[in-house]
Amino acid sequence: MLEIFVLSVGRQEKDFIDRNTQMTISEWQVAIHTLAVSKGWYDGPRGVPELLCLIHSEVSEALEAYRDSPEDHLSNLFSEELADIFIRLADMADYLEIDLEKAITKKYEYNKTRTFRHGNKRC
Ligand SMILES: [Mg+2]
Repeated sequence: MLEIFVLSVGRQEKDFIDRNTQMTISEWQVAIHTLAVSKGWYDGPRGVPELLCLIHSEVSEALEAYRDSPEDHLSNLFSEELADIFIRLADMADYLEIDLEKAITKKYEYNKTRTFRHGNKRC
């Protein structure tokens, strides 16, 4: 069991992450943002455009990792960049008090009702 002391604003409590237990997206969102706060990334207000750009930078890093060795897309580097994308997304969502798990569920349910290729879009 990994012990993490939670320092997030408004969430001053002790938290525990059990590596043997599956965490929900909501739990990850809170843990990721709490860690970012504790590491000083929210000492001042952050803008949504900046946070979106940071997500985009991780997407670009994933692209570069893939381009460097497309035959090795299971490499640690590519996986790490995909994880960075999720971490940045979850961090921003929690900062903005968006329940990412709820939003994903809602959009997933909507997507199930959409037509094949959303009206014959090519990609
Ligand atoms: Mg990265």
